[in-house]
Amino acid sequence: MKKSFPRPMSLSRVKITDELYGSYVNLVAEKIIPYQWDILNDRVPGAEKSHCVENFRIAAGESQGDHYGPVFCDTDAYKWLEAVAYCIENGSDGRYEPTADDLIDLIGRAQRPNGYLNTYYTVVSPGQRWLNLTEGHELYSAGHLMEAAVAYYKATGKDKLLQIACKFADLICEVFGSGQKQCQGYPGHQEIELALVKLYHATGRARYLELADFFIKERGVRPNYLIEEIQRRQGNGLFKEFADYDEEYAQSHQPPVEQKTAEGHAVRALYMYAAMADLAIEQDDQQLNEACLKLWNNITTKRMHITGGVGTSGHLERFTVDYDLPNNSTYCESCASIALMMFGQRMASLTGDASFYDIVEKSLCNTVLAGIAVTGDKYFYVNPLEVWPENCKPSTSMSHVKPVRQPWFPVACCPPNIARTLASLAQYIYSQDDLSLYINQFISSELETSLEGAKIKLKLESSFMQDGLVTIQVQASAACSLKIRMPGYCDYPDFTLDGSGVIPTVENNYAVFILNGNGEYEISMKYEVKPHFVAANHRVRADAGKAALVKGPYVYCLEEVDNGSELSNIFIDTTANIQEGMPLAGMPGRLPVIKYSGKKIISSIADDSQLYGKPVWKFDDVNLTAVPYCLWCNREVGEMLVWQKVERLI
Ligand SMILES: [Zn+2]
Repeated sequence: MKKSFPRPMSLSRVKITDELYGSYVNLVAEKIIPYQWDILNDRVPGAEKSHCVENFRIAAGESQGDHYGPVFCDTDAYKWLEAVAYCIENGSDGRYEPTADDLIDLIGRAQRPNGYLNTYYTVVSPGQRWLNLTEGHELYSAGHLMEAAVAYYKATGKDKLLQIACKFADLICEVFGSGQKQCQGYPGHQEIELALVKLYHATGRARYLELADFFIKERGVRPNYLIEEIQRRQGNGLFKEFADYDEEYAQSHQPPVEQKTAEGHAVRALYMYAAMADLAIEQDDQQLNEACLKLWNNITTKRMHITGGVGTSGHLERFTVDYDLPNNSTYCESCASIALMMFGQRMASLTGDASFYDIVEKSLCNTVLAGIAVTGDKYFYVNPLEVWPENCKPSTSMSHVKPVRQPWFPVACCPPNIARTLASLAQYIYSQDDLSLYINQFISSELETSLEGAKIKLKLESSFMQDGLVTIQVQASAACSLKIRMPGYCDYPDFTLDGSGVIPTVENNYAVFILNGNGEYEISMKYEVKPHFVAANHRVRADAGKAALVKGPYVYCLEEVDNGSELSNIFIDTTANIQEGMPLAGMPGRLPVIKYSGKKIISSIADDSQLYGKPVWKFDDVNLTAVPYCLWCNREVGEMLVWQKVERLI
């Protein structure tokens, strides 16, 4: 019998009622989708030009002009369509369906008769198709088309975009493969691999799964396809930063199954690892399974910020070495944390272990939420853990760090990626296999599903971040098994079943409840979720002698608006009294602020007009207010600091 792996829940079965996340889901429907549609049509004054929809018109021969934007900018439209699809499927909004249908018609008209679809290569370089896989992003863009097509088909039952995507996928299946007349190349930017698995699920066509497998297996084979391709091009490239291209950058230095450490461009890496986990599930492949575990462990125990941010090099957006986690100059692209969520979700399915969802949650509630303003129309691409706005200066080594969220970007992968992630949040809350229903996140919501003939209605109410309480009411028409994730960062909670204390069996970090038959049940969990300081491993140079404040999965930070400037002069006592305060006014959810006292250096040398001098320390006692990192920079521009110096270490 084929092993049953937990599958993410269909969005249509879940209604998110959570104060915090419900507001973000609504924000996608009400503000982000219309805002991003205006952006894609260049109707937002002052924002970076997108030209995305116009590129499709030009490619379709319906408008004159030049292609504008990066080679992969078609993906902005595809991710927008995916977010629209998720809003239709989750029931939050269907207003944009007619607009989406029009865009899909336009995309169809821009498709070449043989199925090829890419506005850059159609308009600018039609003779160069498939000749620059290293930089051209044709397969990456095709992947996002496939993801959008599957989502739109699932949400609406309309298959026009699915047919467009399949026609292109069929062409790619012809062009790429191990046959003598086929190209033995693979994408310079991975993404299509996981998209092909989705397309396989939507259509049942095995050739899509086989192509995903081919792309993973071919990567890293000697001689290196991408390096040979670069040599063939003799220096003619699209990106000047790729002049010293190295194999690790796009993870082609080894076959993926042999890779043990996360190397190169973080988003490329994590999309590939997600696809490897998909293939490990589909093919019950133990070697891929073990490779995924090694890569996951390398990232989460040595190469990840406390915020779930990954890819710390400001140059080329890549992983560097173990414990290299700089706070002010780090990259931590929003997309990389989204991709880490995707990898973690698949690893939880592959292993049946809830602990992967601790990292999914960490990435979501810190870096991914921080990536978007509470107003929905401004975004971070880079997510530092320390900001001094004045030194985030263009044309310097800090130019990648923006101290305020931006209306759009010349390379705009992150904003629509955040939109599609928040609109499909339900997939991270619940999953199910043939035998059990899994609760993976404590996000208030209602669910209706069926399991082994049992109809299940479930209501989850969480005030986890206020008082640590999670209550789950279940109506089941027959016996069923419910598995509830137990977060690794909390002590064992008090459980009750129908008002009586119980100690459930724990399997793979899930508390297991077998509900005996038709009836109503109420399960509650009461956790201790007090704010506390944590330190980093002593090998993390950037955090030596420092501590960060956390409450549950949420990381807190100091902002200038509450604590004055020169936050780096603050010293804290990690044993001091910590108090929770009222949430910030006007912010979604009811995340408390946290108050504690510390000391601040107000002068360090006798003559402040000099730069250096004999130490003469003067301190003030200060009252500090820390706010959730995910909400930083929603009030005023200013300094921000996560890791704070500790006053007394010994
Ligand atoms: Zn991005």
